[in-house]
Amino acid sequence: MQLTSFGAVELGKKIRAKEVSVEEAVKDTIAQIRKKEPDLNSFVTVDEQGALAQAREIQKKIDAGTCMGPLAGVPVAVKDNLCTKGLLTTCSSKMLSGFVPTYTAEAVERLKQAGAVIVGKTNMDEFAMGSTTETSFYGPTKNPWNLGHVPGGSSGGSCAAVAAEQCVCALGSDTGGSIRQPSAFCGVTGIKPTYGTVSRYGLIAYGSSLDQVGPIAKDVSDCAAMLEVLAAHDPKDSTSVKRQDTDFTSALVPDVRGMKIGIPRDYFEKGLDAQVKETVLRAAKVLSGLGAEVSEFDLSLVKYAVPAYYVIACAEASSNLERFDGVKYGWRAKQYEGLHDMYKKTRSEGFGAEVKRRIMLGSFVLSSGYYDAYYLKALRTKALIKQAFDRAFASYDMILCPAAPYTAPKIGESLKDPLQMYLGDIYTVSVNLAGLAGISLPAGTDAAGLPVGMQLIGDCFQEKKLIRAAFALEQARGGYARCPYAQGQDTAAGISHAKGHKEPEGSVRK
Ligand code: GLN
Repeated sequence: MQLTSFGAVELGKKIRAKEVSVEEAVKDTIAQIRKKEPDLNSFVTVDEQGALAQAREIQKKIDAGTCMGPLAGVPVAVKDNLCTKGLLTTCSSKMLSGFVPTYTAEAVERLKQAGAVIVGKTNMDEFAMGSTTETSFYGPTKNPWNLGHVPGGSSGGSCAAVAAEQCVCALGSDTGGSIRQPSAFCGVTGIKPTYGTVSRYGLIAYGSSLDQVGPIAKDVSDCAAMLEVLAAHDPKDSTSVKRQDTDFTSALVPDVRGMKIGIPRDYFEKGLDAQVKETVLRAAKVLSGLGAEVSEFDLSLVKYAVPAYYVIACAEASSNLERFDGVKYGWRAKQYEGLHDMYKKTRSEGFGAEVKRRIMLGSFVLSSGYYDAYYLKALRTKALIKQAFDRAFASYDMILCPAAPYTAPKIGESLKDPLQMYLGDIYTVSVNLAGLAGISLPAGTDAAGLPVGMQLIGDCFQEKKLIRAAFALEQARGGYARCPYAQGQDTAAGISHAKGHKEPEGSVRK
């Protein structure tokens, strides 16, 4: 029996009941990763030795009864923008090639404290900038549902790995949709927690006012169990919030009677794929059949969310990425004359095209002549967007909408037109701008068999409502739908690039 086909909580139960040893779970996970990597490229680093050593430690604690939480002994994959002490952390960028952190991100540390075993680091868009995982220095990750398509991004490696059953659950990060959109494209579940809920300490920053770490798993219960472990106040992160309501698994109650769910009319207009629209609205019908009060409303300001997001995210990125100068971390140009030339060549060689585009855009909107016209205006727009959500949450418990306007695009289609790609983030970015909570869960498949994802958006600190409604919906649908690839079916028919991956020059990953 392949152990990665279980859910995370289910596998944890088997481990605590001694039906399975931690070592068996880890060995099976590593075997599944190795077997499927030639197809998927969802990992940057696989830490076999480290994971086996952790497994032995955890097993001792489980045997002694001192580590008995739901994730004790469960193998977890971690997005490669979360620092892991002694383990390569690259952000899928040449800029961080060879970078081995001296400390571990708080979110990862919390998982480890709960007994989870870190098996490796997953592929992503370079510095989390992108929506397809194609901007990775290590090449794109493939969508297990169809190897000719992207898994979404930027947490595409984590989502593909869970969908393909290379591992049972993973960590992602979400600045403008990077947990929710790839979860939708890969048919898995992901939560973007309220800003401040999960520590950002050790998360390599993209847009610090927007970034949140969150769980990616097969179903709502696994996500709730992970979030319960992840959510905690951390004095090392000045934006971390003290919350008393982090018992998220207590919300796993399939009851939505009396819940008020709003459907923003402006989210269902032009630009939304007809099949996605139909599938998401069908889910709304199911919820209303279960007793929720579902109605339409006007959210307003929708068309300003993407421009405001890209101005703010790029401004913050241009500042955050200043630290990569060839002195302190990772890549340094081999040949240069003097300090300035070293900076210039290091940054020219180390960053990919999408990252450079965003650094330039961010520097432009922050420059003295344009600061008011772009950056300040974007901040004002952000405040108005927050107010629009405040008005909505005065009447509704949550908002139901798509996670993305279409299903996973083909590999190679998106980067040709970055502006078009940015517009694809329409349903996710405002959640980050307003600091809200969002969950993305599978809603069905389109005619081509690709997953359609839907999103529930909640007010700040209302994750429990989202978990409750998502759980009810999942139960009504009969639980998690496995990806055909995970069941051994060939999803590479007729795709020439599907097998075999060319390693970039300068790669030091394993
Ligand atoms: N696709 C969005 C972007 O490229 C979101 C990325 C993210 O959430 N990290 O900025």
